[in-house]
Amino acid sequence: MGLIIYLDGQYLEEKDAKVSVFDHGLLYGDGVFEGIRVYSGCIFRLEQHLDRLFSSAKYIMLDIPMSKDELIQATVETVRRNNLRDGYIRLVVTRGKGDLGLAPWKCPKATVFIIASTIKLYPAEFYEKGMEIVTVPTTRNRNEALNARAKTLNYLNNILAKIEAKNAGVEEALMLDASGFVAECTGDNIFLLRQGVMLTPPTYLGALKGITRDSIIELARKEGIEVVEQPFTRFDVYEADECFLTGTAAEAIPVVKVDGRVIGDGKPGAITWKLIERYRAITAVDGVKID
Ligand code: PMP
Repeated sequence: MGLIIYLDGQYLEEKDAKVSVFDHGLLYGDGVFEGIRVYSGCIFRLEQHLDRLFSSAKYIMLDIPMSKDELIQATVETVRRNNLRDGYIRLVVTRGKGDLGLAPWKCPKATVFIIASTIKLYPAEFYEKGMEIVTVPTTRNRNEALNARAKTLNYLNNILAKIEAKNAGVEEALMLDASGFVAECTGDNIFLLRQGVMLTPPTYLGALKGITRDSIIELARKEGIEVVEQPFTRFDVYEADECFLTGTAAEAIPVVKVDGRVIGDGKPGAITWKLIERYRAITAVDGVKID
């Protein structure tokens, strides 16, 4: 049996959940989205995800035809109808159906759909032993062209980098901004630990303000770890004691090799472990419960 999908006010069988070929989400990548986790019947930080969705929509001047409360209700109901207790939700708002021109004002109504399913990005081994990443030639989009803080349906920048990483034999890419500062990875934020201090790039370098990133920063500060958002280069990554990535789909994952350089002693670091543990402890309590 297929999934139950929320689409524009209706809960439909997966086979009946269809979007027009004239939808500008498809024709132009014109839309916004969120990826959200459910842990033990708790939709992790759903409100924060929706706040970011509304910020992204405001940036692209897209009117979401539902309130935040209505979106919470629809998301919870979609998860319930799929009997999902642990999984991954994709909430998408596109510009809607229009004609073949770019003009968004010819799209009278945004399309909203919610998929409640599962996701697995990396093998379990990466979480235990750490993963390897490489810097790729494709840099982040300039914020002045398309701000990385908006989670839009235009993911080609990230997809090109992901393909380049795969071509280099690894699963995730380190992306730089146009000046060579470290920005983020294709679907994750990056953190370093250097002499006990935690560093992450400021979002103005072309990074999404990750919900997982925010959670990890809060948890680290609670542990008394100093967290600094400051620009750094690949050199700083190479000489870091520890490195890890964060993202809703990837969760928190240690990185042990970057561009062929071993990070620290080549094993996931102690602070990384501690933060992953603290993060796992809040996932099933910090959010909207489905029952
Ligand atoms: N950066 C990018 C480019 C992303 O797509 C994502 C989400 N997959 C993240 C960072 C992490 O954000 P979050 O923790 O909110 O999932």
